[in-house]
Amino acid sequence: MLRRARAPRLRSMRAFAAAEITLPDGPHRGRRFRCARQPYTGLWFDLVDSQAWPRMAAVGPTQSGKTLAAFIVPCLYHLFEIGENVICGVPDMRMAGDKWREDLLPVIRRTRYAELIPSRGAGSRGGKVSEIEFRNGATLKFMSGGGGDKSRAGFTSRVLVVTEADGLDTPGSTSREADKLTQLEGRLRADPANRREYLECTASIEEGRIWQEYTTGTATAIRLHCPHCAAWVTPEREHLLGWQDAEDEIAAEEAATFACPECAALWSEADRRLAHADAIPLHRGQEITADGQVTGQAPRTRTLGFRWSGVNNFFTTAALMGAEEWRAARAVDEDGAEREMRQFVWALPAQPLEEAETPLDSRVLIQRRDKWPRGICPPDTEYLTVGADIGKRVGYWAALAYTASRRIHLVEYGSFEIQSDDLGLTRAIVAALRDFRDRCAEGWPVDGSGDYRQPNQVWVDSSYEPDTVRAWAKEAGHGPRGRFQPIRGQGASQRRNPASYRRPQRTTRAVRRIGTGWHLVRLDTPGAFHVLVDVDHWKTWTHARLATPADQPGALVFYSSLDQNEHTKLAKHLTAERQVTEYRAGKGHVTRWVQVSRQNHWLDCVAYAGAAGDWAGFRLVDTAKAGPQAPDQAAGKWWTDQRRKRRGGRR
Ligand SMILES: [Zn+2]
Repeated sequence: MLRRARAPRLRSMRAFAAAEITLPDGPHRGRRFRCARQPYTGLWFDLVDSQAWPRMAAVGPTQSGKTLAAFIVPCLYHLFEIGENVICGVPDMRMAGDKWREDLLPVIRRTRYAELIPSRGAGSRGGKVSEIEFRNGATLKFMSGGGGDKSRAGFTSRVLVVTEADGLDTPGSTSREADKLTQLEGRLRADPANRREYLECTASIEEGRIWQEYTTGTATAIRLHCPHCAAWVTPEREHLLGWQDAEDEIAAEEAATFACPECAALWSEADRRLAHADAIPLHRGQEITADGQVTGQAPRTRTLGFRWSGVNNFFTTAALMGAEEWRAARAVDEDGAEREMRQFVWALPAQPLEEAETPLDSRVLIQRRDKWPRGICPPDTEYLTVGADIGKRVGYWAALAYTASRRIHLVEYGSFEIQSDDLGLTRAIVAALRDFRDRCAEGWPVDGSGDYRQPNQVWVDSSYEPDTVRAWAKEAGHGPRGRFQPIRGQGASQRRNPASYRRPQRTTRAVRRIGTGWHLVRLDTPGAFHVLVDVDHWKTWTHARLATPADQPGALVFYSSLDQNEHTKLAKHLTAERQVTEYRAGKGHVTRWVQVSRQNHWLDCVAYAGAAGDWAGFRLVDTAKAGPQAPDQAAGKWWTDQRRKRRGGRR
């Protein structure tokens, strides 16, 4: 009886995690949590257990167990091991339910604390979640710190655990008073020495909360012990070598390895693991001697700033990271892919934006000419596509030829009249589109052969008069085997239909064909189809092609003309929209297209023709060459799937 009456001896967080946690997902799903699987977790828990810092900020890559180590385990440790209230800070109260159901609940259910989950009330079933009172008396309280969050009043705790910390902060705002995180910290009990605050996030931008907390805190880095030269090193992104000059994705995967920053020896996966065996966390300003003795004082700060990176992530391999780097370097949206690599793989904030984007100059654009005059396809033309945009009185169009040398030639572009004042809108559009179909059916002559080339695909924007354009397309030949497709643009910055494009996962009865940034939909009306096009993607593609040096593969060039001003109007249309990337708290980097001038029709036409080129079979990078997927561990495949899911999902 006496033994039971005594307060139980508290375990460390590390011991708690090892004894109580079973992994709910990831490559080791269903198995016991072990620090050895991700060695950074052992260092992190030891630093937390040292109780040297009341505030602890963790920044790391996605898919590395970050949420488990820096969010879920701290929550559960305080709720169940210590048995005290925990405030859980989320960027938005609407996220509270997701955090509970998707992150916390699956882990708790696999512990012996599952019996403490309340059987009634909030949290036991679906619906809104803001507060969960467990049967041991401890309460988990979700708070967003937003102005509308009235639930904060009257609840105090010693422990604050914040997930996606950058979402609670407005970087650059002058008043720190106003930011949500500071407001949440106000809910912690007064005694600062006794508080515990955990923050976790991926690195978004340098001014973002987590990177600020990390760098002004201890800025702790993990030193690894090189198995070749025995130096204490921290390999970063630039030390992943071999993928840069690879000919294709598979070659990049086969060649990618970490190189020791000191002796440049290449680390095998076994070396990488070995280098972690006696890893040491080193705080800002400290040094390490050859025999592993840390010298120098820890910085005088109350915040532990802890970071791990790709080299520490054993849920993936150097090979897979190399393949990802290779793909990112060749992505249509190169800037976006670069930011993703830094943020999600290397735990680094994005580079300042000025360096990333240079807008196209219309005066330079008009000089992008090749030797073929207007209306002539180059001799090595493989595909020909036409994009068109129609309005009330005028229709615009552009024809692109794709050559065997992977260049894109603007064969011809123009406009045609739509006589809606005389004929009425519907009749005028049908009449104009019938003439346009006849023009396309004639084709365009190929240089040196005497042949006429008919377009593989003709895509016409139907958003102005959907039924009319669809009726015309049906008559002209549309759908999976047709050449004339009515299309509908989707994108965050579309005027008529401002919704982000969502790529369907697979073909269905309704989704007949899926490409890059487009899919063919069979509509409810019998015999009606349209193609949904991700206009943001294809405008980015268009500008990337226009930014490629004119003699290189992937360049979009215009037909030649003796008139110096021939392409002035075209260049104005093509630069009528500009891509801007902004940082939004809780959403990360958001890229959208902003109109600079209203005359943007040929930009749309070229973007549609570009998407139609993808349908026809044109690829900038020859993916057909890639052989069957290289055999790899379950971990690798899981990780790639997760990454794919993330790309297709909210972001
Ligand atoms: Zn070395």
